[in-house]
Amino acid sequence: MESIVHSESELRDSAFHSSHILNVDRVAAIRQEMEYLNTIGKRFVAAIDRFQVHRALLAALQELYSFSACSILLRGDPFELSIIPCYPLSEAFLQAVVQRIASAARVIDFPHINVEELAVTSYLDAPDELSTALAQDTVAGSEIGSCLNIPLTVENRIVGMLSLFDEHVGTFDTELLKLTTMIADYAAVALENVRLRERETALWRQAELGRQRLELIIISMAEGLLITDARGAITLLNYSAQHLLAQAQIDLQQDIPLRSLALTSDVPWLDKLAEIIDKALAGETVMNQEIIAGEIGESVPLTLSISAAPLLEANQLQSYPIGVVAVLNDITSNKQIEKLKDEFVSVVSHELRTPLTSIKGFTQHLIRRIDRRLRKAHQEQKNIASVGDLPESYDLRSLHIVQSQTEHLERLVNDLLDLSRVQWGNLNLQYTSFFLADVLAECVYSAQVSAEQHTIYLDIQVQDTKILADQTRIGQVIGNILDNAVKYSPNGGQVTVQLGDLDGDYLVNITDQGIGINPVYLDHIFERFYRLRNSASRQYSGIGLGLYVTRAIIERHGGRIWVTNNQGVGCTFSFTLPRTPQTS
Ligand code: ADP
Repeated sequence: MESIVHSESELRDSAFHSSHILNVDRVAAIRQEMEYLNTIGKRFVAAIDRFQVHRALLAALQELYSFSACSILLRGDPFELSIIPCYPLSEAFLQAVVQRIASAARVIDFPHINVEELAVTSYLDAPDELSTALAQDTVAGSEIGSCLNIPLTVENRIVGMLSLFDEHVGTFDTELLKLTTMIADYAAVALENVRLRERETALWRQAELGRQRLELIIISMAEGLLITDARGAITLLNYSAQHLLAQAQIDLQQDIPLRSLALTSDVPWLDKLAEIIDKALAGETVMNQEIIAGEIGESVPLTLSISAAPLLEANQLQSYPIGVVAVLNDITSNKQIEKLKDEFVSVVSHELRTPLTSIKGFTQHLIRRIDRRLRKAHQEQKNIASVGDLPESYDLRSLHIVQSQTEHLERLVNDLLDLSRVQWGNLNLQYTSFFLADVLAECVYSAQVSAEQHTIYLDIQVQDTKILADQTRIGQVIGNILDNAVKYSPNGGQVTVQLGDLDGDYLVNITDQGIGINPVYLDHIFERFYRLRNSASRQYSGIGLGLYVTRAIIERHGGRIWVTNNQGVGCTFSFTLPRTPQTS
């Protein structure tokens, strides 16, 4: 029994021993295989372009087989085919290779592959040491003896095909097929990575090119461009902006918000620039704000027009601005032209005034003389039928027309003269103390004389109407508004002039029953040369300066002026005047 037991245990030992030897061999083989795959894997991982992947692949395959060439076909439009020879190959062999690849590819997953196109796009990636030899006579034969095709897959997608070729028959051992497939998988992943990297690099290059082009556009823009961060510190000034803001000597490196810069700087206009930037940072879009950015005292100093808008991130339109983008335009030459134009208008108006004064004076003189003569005739020749039939009566009527047209011309010339005064800030006021009610009454009286179809009412609602203001200018304002009230109510009607009080200031309302003003135009009516473009107002003469000058006079006094439309029947012009001038 013992011996049996003994012999059994011996048997078991010997069985264990033999299987142990077998296992030791297998473990060694697996370890060897893993080391091999590990080395290959590392080579593929280190490959940074497709050529390095080819080198790694060739090296790995050459450790398994001795063969003539391998190839990699990659899906794409068009297909990419790289043929990697192990030694110089004949042209016929290469052609046969392409043929074989096409037929195998059709079978695996690419039914539409075209041999001609493939031949044209194929790339012979010969290792360095071969490239010189390839140029010389080829040494290999022209026939393919054996061939192995393996699909290249990444995450179960067939991305291409690996093919191995040899001149000799039976080169590719089916026992190594599993290992070869693993190498093919490594190569597929490595090539896919290279492809992604290449695509990423191309995209990055494209984005970088776009960025550089944008930078170039910004830098070379004729308009000045200024960009700030969320605190209002300038982060970018293009060449034009640097040139335009040269006086301020802004140093971008300092990284200081404009409003802080303005506090310490003695450049007078920085304050206004900071104000514009602050408005834009608060979310407002500021349009065409003028800044005099040159030496004060020059005949026309450097004048900039600035528009600024908040910079909002594309997907966060509701949030706070991340900065401001401002465009600066040099409008000095426009100002120069404007000044020349205003000077011309002013000179011509002055020149017109002298002959006008004498026409007015002599007309008045003639009117008085003829009037006297007619009265005398009336007294002396009581027997004639009517004095109106005398030729002098006709002369008198003609002279009255000359007089009223001259007055019209005089008003026009005065408006033109006032225009340049307003433009260049020379509208000087002569303050005196007077009763506003008296001036209103005088204006109502003279407007009524020439407005037969209208009835003009005066409604004084305040007791003491003394005011310290420029009497002539205030008379001009009331006269202008009254003239318009009569002119723009062709069917006559009532005009009411009302004097009241608004928050301690005088308030004058002048209401007519005329054509009224379309609410769309209410904001523009006080702009210079602005006339309503509707058929109704086209029939009235005028140049659109009266209200522009009127507003300037009222604002110069510290008052406000506005107009309201009265539900389709006429409109009301209102203005306020402080009782005494406001000291600023
Ligand atoms: P002008 O009368 O010479 O055209 P104004 O500056 O006095 O210039 O007026 C500007 C425009 O405002 C006028 O052309 C007219 O269209 C409009 N307007 C002014 N006053 C009235 C009014 N009382 N009723 C209707 N439209 C008016």
